[in-house]
Amino acid sequence: MTCIGCGTELAAERAELGYRYCLAAACQERFRRGPEVTAVGVNKSGESFVVAEPDEVRRRAEAGEFAPKNAALPTTPASGTREARRPRRRPTRPAAPAVRPWTPQQEKLVRLYHDMGLTPREIVERCRAAAPRLGVDERLVVRILSAPRR
Ligand SMILES: [Zn+2]
Repeated sequence: MTCIGCGTELAAERAELGYRYCLAAACQERFRRGPEVTAVGVNKSGESFVVAEPDEVRRRAEAGEFAPKNAALPTTPASGTREARRPRRRPTRPAAPAVRPWTPQQEKLVRLYHDMGLTPREIVERCRAAAPRLGVDERLVVRILSAPRR
């Protein structure tokens, strides 16, 4: 095995590691790409990352160290994969406070009469007599009484 750069004979150990170039500075500069992070499939549950020169990763993958199918796959899920089909979880919005389109004065009076045992119709009559400006009608009484107390 000789260096692809300068043609000198490669050390057997280096050739065995998969290198095709020697340690001479010129050949290192020309061919060495440096360690790269490569995602490789190691088992069914996920992938891990190997920091090594691409040549070495390829060699180790060919040696069966990684799941060959997944070796060198991009880390972003491709469309159609299980990962890509999984729906994004929407952030849950806090429940909006119940809208109470009536005033505390209206509610206080309606509940007062309700606690006295009056029917909604009677409550409306009492409210109109006692506080006509509050504008309480039967529909409002029902809405107030069906809402939880503040
Ligand atoms: Zn060389």
